[in-house]
Amino acid sequence: MIRSLLTRFYAGSRTPESASQDSPISEPTRYTSADHGIDAKHLCPNATEVVERLQQAGYEAYIVGGGVRDLLLGKLPKDFDVATDATPEEVKAVFPRCRLIGRRFRLAHVRMRGDVIEVATFRGQGQVHQDADGRILRDNVWGSVEEDAERRDFTINAMFMDPVSGEIRDWVGGYPDLQARCLRLIGDPETRYREDPVRLLRMARFVAKLGVEPDAATLAPVDAVAPQLEQIPAARLFEELCKLFLTGHAERTLETLQRFALTRFLFPVLERSGPVGKAQLHPVMMRAMKSTDERLAQDLSVTPAFLIAALLWGPVEALAKRYESEGASPFQAMERAGDEVIAEQVQRTAIPRRFSSVTRQIWLNQVRLTRTRGKRALSILQQPRFRASYDFLLLRSLDDPELESLAAFWTEAQEGAPEAPAPAPGKRRRRRRRGGRGKSQRGARQAGAES
Ligand code: ATP
Ligand code: MG
Repeated sequence: MIRSLLTRFYAGSRTPESASQDSPISEPTRYTSADHGIDAKHLCPNATEVVERLQQAGYEAYIVGGGVRDLLLGKLPKDFDVATDATPEEVKAVFPRCRLIGRRFRLAHVRMRGDVIEVATFRGQGQVHQDADGRILRDNVWGSVEEDAERRDFTINAMFMDPVSGEIRDWVGGYPDLQARCLRLIGDPETRYREDPVRLLRMARFVAKLGVEPDAATLAPVDAVAPQLEQIPAARLFEELCKLFLTGHAERTLETLQRFALTRFLFPVLERSGPVGKAQLHPVMMRAMKSTDERLAQDLSVTPAFLIAALLWGPVEALAKRYESEGASPFQAMERAGDEVIAEQVQRTAIPRRFSSVTRQIWLNQVRLTRTRGKRALSILQQPRFRASYDFLLLRSLDDPELESLAAFWTEAQEGAPEAPAPAPGKRRRRRRRGGRGKSQRGARQAGAES
């Protein structure tokens, strides 16, 4: 029944412009706590307080987005977002210490007991600033709650929960879609992707993170719209990169990006494999994704620098080999290859210098770590990036038998006295190694904290 209502609601492929003229005032489907079973104690008390204070000030306010979705899936939400009919300035009047941020999408950051709650004003469907490709450059037109529901990306992200009554209001069929594990773009998929091509990456991320599947209509325009990702500012794509790979589902995310042929729109430096958006994956990439996920599951720190080192290692290694074959020293070859690959990559996704400089050092240390003779070789143990570089070498050695003895040498070098003269790799075998920590465990230690 809900589906047929929705079909009527979304009859035809309306553009956002036409929608503003004929938007029906619709009633949402309502789900009480008894229906959905979310326990109020799982809601974030800080977000709930923000909603309550806005309501007390006379505004409409809800918890919306990933928080509601993840609770319904029985997952722990990453954060809770608030949507309200108060404008950013009105939010500021209620929370004088909040910060108004964003240009493309203005919103308020309300601090509540150390937490930052994002409070967004309902978006409407009036005049938005679009470029020739249909991309929305600014989306700061205020609207009603049902218009806001329609402006969101996927139906499962557009459920509004009143934390006071516990009721969920659903204007777009997100609730039944979530139950069916269906990822459905709201409105006409191609238009919605063109408005904001980052939605393609969000689609891949939700598939990986939530185990949902896009419906046929949501999937159909993906290949046609994917090249529009080139128009997205590099800084925004870096933010998306972190969300894709540093939130605990990196391995599945990379598989999903490959499945939807989106990988090379994020990493154009990677070799193509089949369709234009699909990349050749170096084994170290998958190893690094897995190890990042394992570290996050154990609440250990991760850094984009290590991840980027792994993601771009294929082209860096290949280019360094070429420069070496042309006569450069291994160190010079790696330096040049690393600089060039980073320079090309930052055209697409920004990589803040504090990360790219660590990435470069990890790569250069792959050359330094091949030197094991002499006192100077061991001095690398004191280098701040030794840990990450050693972990990177360990990951590489898992698929390259030639690197096994080198990795073992550096494992032992750390356990031995740093002053001891360096033996040649493979000569000094410690009995401890046999019964000691397995390589896979050590591999999972990865990258150390970013410092
Ligand atoms: P998570 O927090 O797990 O990454 P999320 O769905 O909460 O997932 P956010 O980026 O926090 O994602 O965004 C909050 C909500 O804002 C989304 O659920 C969605 O309703 C809306 N939203 C975010 N980005 C977009 C977008 N590009 N287009 C349309 N709506 C969006
Ligand atoms: Mg969120």
